[in-house]
Amino acid sequence: MIELRRHNAAFCKDCFLRHCREQVKRTIHDFRMIEPGNRVLVAVSGGKDSLALWDLLLDLEYDADGLYLGLGIGEYSDESGRCARAYAERRGAKLVEVDIPTTYGFDIPGAAIATKRVPCSACGLSKRHLFNQAALDGGYDVVATGHNLDDEAAVLFGNVLRWDEGYLGRQLPVLPADDGFARKVKPLVRLGEREMAAYCVLTGIDYIVEECPNAVGNKHLGYKDALNTIEDQSPGSKAAFYFGFLARAAPKFTEAAVGEREELHPCPSCGAPTTAEVCAFCKLVNRASSQGPSGPAERTQRE
Ligand code: SF4
Repeated sequence: MIELRRHNAAFCKDCFLRHCREQVKRTIHDFRMIEPGNRVLVAVSGGKDSLALWDLLLDLEYDADGLYLGLGIGEYSDESGRCARAYAERRGAKLVEVDIPTTYGFDIPGAAIATKRVPCSACGLSKRHLFNQAALDGGYDVVATGHNLDDEAAVLFGNVLRWDEGYLGRQLPVLPADDGFARKVKPLVRLGEREMAAYCVLTGIDYIVEECPNAVGNKHLGYKDALNTIEDQSPGSKAAFYFGFLARAAPKFTEAAVGEREELHPCPSCGAPTTAEVCAFCKLVNRASSQGPSGPAERTQRE
C-alpha cells in the first residue's frame, strides 16, 4: 500500500497508478496545457520525475518525444544518459539528444568556472535556452518538464523569501507560447517527489537515483528540507502553499513578468529573445568554449 498523508488515503498499486494518471490528466485539462494534435517535447534528465512524466504522457496517448541534454557532468551524465536511452528503447519512443560538450565545446563544470557562476546557474541557463531552441527547431508546440509539487513549492518559497516579483509572475504551471518561445508546461505539479519515486518503482522504470554532484548544498534542497519539516507536521501544507499562490497571489505579479517580456528583442547571434545586447547563453558559450560558438546544435535522433 502507498500511503499519501496529503490526501489522507492509501492506494494499492493499480489505484495508485490510476491516481497518478488522473492527477496529470486533470492538471493538463485545468491549465489547458496541451491541445489536441499538439506535439510535445519532454525534457528528460534520466531522473524519476522526467521519465515518469514521459511515461504518463505516452500512456495518456499524447504525441510526446523526449529531449536529453548531455551536460558533461562526469559519471552523473553518463548514467543519466543511459537511463534516458534505455527508457526510450523500452517504449519505442523518440529521444532527441543534444550533447553540450560535443556541440558547444564546453561542459557545465567548465562553464561555471569560466563565467564565475555557480554550476546550477550555468546549467539552468543552458537548459532553458536549449529546451526552447530544440522545441522551435523541431516544430514542437509544447515543452513539458518534470517539475513536481515539491519542486514548485520550494522554488516558490525561495522567490517569496526574496520577494522576487519577476520570478513570482512567471512561476506558473503553464507559460504561453510567444514570439521566440514555445509553450512551457509542468503537468506534475499535483504530484509529489515520493509519488514519482513510487511510480517509477511500480512501473519498473530504471532512473538515476544519485543526485547530481552539484546539487549538494544548493539552496533549493535547503528549501525542500524546510518544507518537508512543515509537511510532516501538517500534511497538505505544500499543496495549500502552492495552489493558494496560484489562485490568490500569482495574478498580482503577472504585470512584472509581462513588463519584462515587452523589453525582449532577438539576440543578434542566435535569434533567441533577450533583454540584453547578446543573450546570456551566447555570452556563456563565448566565455566557456575554447573555440567560441560552434554553430547550430547537431542533434542525433533515435527511434
Ligand atoms: Fe544542473 Fe545543478 Fe541540476 Fe546538476 S543540480 S543538473 S548542475 S541544475
